[in-house]
Amino acid sequence: MTNATQTLRNNNIKATPQRIAVFNAIYSTNKHPNAETIFRYLLPSYPSMSLATVYKTLKTLKECKLIQEINVGEDSFRYDFNITNHSHLICINCKDVSDINNSNWFKIIKEEIRSNTSFTPLYEQVYIYGVCNECSE
Ligand SMILES: [Zn+2]
Ligand SMILES: [Zn+2]
Repeated sequence: MTNATQTLRNNNIKATPQRIAVFNAIYSTNKHPNAETIFRYLLPSYPSMSLATVYKTLKTLKECKLIQEINVGEDSFRYDFNITNHSHLICINCKDVSDINNSNWFKIIKEEIRSNTSFTPLYEQVYIYGVCNECSE
């Protein structure tokens, strides 16, 4: 687990208990939560926390490139501690978002684009919609 206090301080963010909690909430899951999910998850332990604080903290963490915001086509953003470019699988039933690693197809597509157009592809963010393992049972 990343040391939240140290990481926040290294980025000149005041390490308040609520900010640490938001940071840890994202870094402890690969579920790509949105602000409301984080808020509901933290509320029992931080009853004085407001949704606005969660949003503000997420904005700060994003600006410091400690998390990335992803848009999976919902009306709110999801948050990801993995700040590298990577692609996602999205369950249309339970809205579960998971990472796709080793996206070899992009290398193939990149080559294809290079040889057929004058466009230079740099990175990709692919969202693949489907049904997750749990929902298909
Ligand atoms: Zn599902
Ligand atoms: Zn991700």
